[in-house]
Amino acid sequence: MEKQLTNFLLKGGRLIDPANGKDGALDVHVRNGIVGEIGANLEPNGATVVDTKDLIVTPGLIDVHLHLMKGLGAFGVDPDIFGVGSGVTTVVDAGSAGHTLLNVFRDYVTRNAKTRVLNYINLSTLGGVTGPGYSILADPRLIDEEKIANAVEFHRDVIVGIKIMATGGALGAQGLKPLERARKLGDQLRIPLLVHIGESWTKGTEPVAVADVLKYLRPGDIITHMFTAHPGGLLDANGKLWPQARDAKESGVLMDVGHGLHNLNFDVARKVLDQGLRPDGVSTDGHRGNRGGPVYDLPTTMAKLIALGFSLNRVVEMATVNAARLLGQPNELGTLRAGEPADISVLRLEDREWTAIDSQKGSIPAKQALVPVYAIRGDTIHEALPLERP
Ligand SMILES: [Zn+2]
Repeated sequence: MEKQLTNFLLKGGRLIDPANGKDGALDVHVRNGIVGEIGANLEPNGATVVDTKDLIVTPGLIDVHLHLMKGLGAFGVDPDIFGVGSGVTTVVDAGSAGHTLLNVFRDYVTRNAKTRVLNYINLSTLGGVTGPGYSILADPRLIDEEKIANAVEFHRDVIVGIKIMATGGALGAQGLKPLERARKLGDQLRIPLLVHIGESWTKGTEPVAVADVLKYLRPGDIITHMFTAHPGGLLDANGKLWPQARDAKESGVLMDVGHGLHNLNFDVARKVLDQGLRPDGVSTDGHRGNRGGPVYDLPTTMAKLIALGFSLNRVVEMATVNAARLLGQPNELGTLRAGEPADISVLRLEDREWTAIDSQKGSIPAKQALVPVYAIRGDTIHEALPLERP
């Protein structure tokens, strides 16, 4: 459900905008799709009042890792399901399309979406549409630097980086060579690398050590699946953080959660967090196969981080200003500014006990749930889709 309003006032909510340190009872006026005044106890003066009493208002939430090639490939999901249907205004496809499929992606997915859709281009010509478990980088001919460069130049407005599957299954006999080629491409095109770690599917293949992967990363590159329990993760066999992981983080390599069907494990998360490494970003790794659990949506993934000990403000920070930085768009996304197009999320924080379940069916008690209410883009207010959450 959605409605368009030319002049409305979000009234009575608690605004949390970590980019500029705002947290308090602040109303937001939107006229002709543009943010107007942000302040306490604003008078409607003819604007339609949208009651946000007892609700949380944030800059539009950003989910930085999903699989959105709907209807094509193994698990693509319509972007509006995890997007505006989940209180999220920006979603990022993590490498469904290689250079050959970007045009199709834009014509077929992006153009029809009510949610803003951005892309990581897959290093492999095959892209990610085959689904996991294929050796998409194991043949040197499956990386074509020139065609990737052309695609990135042509689609600069939506491409935020290059997606690489750093798993033994994907790399095969090529070993680390695709990472070396990705490094050069990232430098040449001035875009970050988004690197998947964790050997979730390909049984019997030798996992790639994260320390070897990290050698190829620079500040601004992103490791996704930081809390994976699968081989190739951030912890050694004794549960100790690889020192290279800490070094990388301190040097400015960014770390993202990437929940997914396989890669959020609460035991691993506790160990990683206890050793002082914190996530920069939170994302669902959402696709057709995890919407009905264990992932559900970005707010639920954020609530799992709250159950792990983070404050509401910290997880909102991860999903707004941090995500915008991770995407290289800190001036465009992740904060509310008067004079800019409205890009706002409205959530309900529920004080109730529930059990958070991870990708391996591990559970932790949670005391707060986060439920999407609206995603607002310009003059359009999208109601969240009904969904049975835990
Ligand atoms: Zn993924």
